[in-house]
Amino acid sequence: MASRGGKRTTGKGSLSTRVSHAGRDRKLTLGGVNPVIQRASTVVVESASKLFEPGGWTYGRHGTATHEALKEALCEIEGSAHCALAPSGLMACIIPFLAFAKPGGHVLVGDNAYGPTRRFVDRMLHRWGCEATYFDPEIGAGIASLIRADTSVLFVESPGSMTFEVADAPALALAARAAGVTSVIDNTWSGGVFHKPLALGFDISVQANTKYVSGGADALNGAIHTDSETVFEQLKDTIADLGSNVAPDDAYAVLRGARSLPLRMVQHEKAALEVARWLQGHPSIQRVLHPALETDPGHALWKRDFTGSSGLFGIVLTKAPTGRVHAFLDALQLFSLGFSYGGFESLAIHCDPQLKRTARKPHLPGPLIRLSIGLEDPADLIADLEQALAALD
Ligand SMILES: *Cc1c(COP(=O)(O)O)cnc(C)c1O
Repeated sequence: MASRGGKRTTGKGSLSTRVSHAGRDRKLTLGGVNPVIQRASTVVVESASKLFEPGGWTYGRHGTATHEALKEALCEIEGSAHCALAPSGLMACIIPFLAFAKPGGHVLVGDNAYGPTRRFVDRMLHRWGCEATYFDPEIGAGIASLIRADTSVLFVESPGSMTFEVADAPALALAARAAGVTSVIDNTWSGGVFHKPLALGFDISVQANTKYVSGGADALNGAIHTDSETVFEQLKDTIADLGSNVAPDDAYAVLRGARSLPLRMVQHEKAALEVARWLQGHPSIQRVLHPALETDPGHALWKRDFTGSSGLFGIVLTKAPTGRVHAFLDALQLFSLGFSYGGFESLAIHCDPQLKRTARKPHLPGPLIRLSIGLEDPADLIADLEQALAALD
């Protein structure tokens, strides 16, 4: 039986097989195929000696059968020894800072990090007197020169979820480890399927399950993965200090999505590449930001460190006033306009108003649009883009 912290991946069978079978212990399912949705604050115990048993299920905030089943599946996906749940992807990004950053100290943050992660660093960590240096996500081994005696956390997102730079993950992890800095990577783009940062040396890998893992655009959830027992203890203590909690219904929804994640990722990858390649040849497109394309600056690192690509990428339009960009977005019929990604539905957003860079500006010679390719037929999506791009002129 797995510990409450999730179990080490069995490594038996392919990922689809393992994800189909994770969290199916009878204790979690009561004989059903799925775990029970155990809605519980109080969990009553059989005898007084069990009230304070380490690792026992004693109170809803510490998790129930539903959370346990989800964590088992998530550990299989990420290939991690341990995982902790968070009520959102953003909380999963924040908790490692709260666990390892030191008041009055210093952290390193990739310049392409998710905007709300930056907001936390700039506001809350700043209020603690913790200084942040934003670094060029393509800095690689050069990161060593930015590590200070008081640096405690290195955080990077790869590829950046709006600008799609690929970080040299092993180089960053190695430099951090050599200096005793806790390294954290936001692995949301890959869904945890196509990139295994813990195997590349990262201490912590974070996943916004809200996106690909859930896949349904109907739940907010996050996971924090690690192979290290001591890192895990510190994360668990921080979560307990915060009183952070995940609703069992959300855990159930994410687990239901996780079962089909490996299969969905294959389709997201295939469809997105088809759409991206078509866009590359379109006269209204200056650049396609997609690391699996041979022409992308991050392609070599992606090829070395990833086993596939997801459905999320960027396009740089030819120069156009905001009114024309809006006309293009408004003309889309199959792409909905909305934040997030990883669901079955294709989405588009205009990124420029959200871009915050202080270390190095990305090369964006025109308006930046982000597309999330869902599970529709890519030929239909291409036809939709074709008619909408006409609205740019
Ligand atoms: C969406 C996202 C998050 C935050 O996830 P929420 O569940 O929306 O809080 C964090 N990192 C990345 C890269 C994301 O795309």
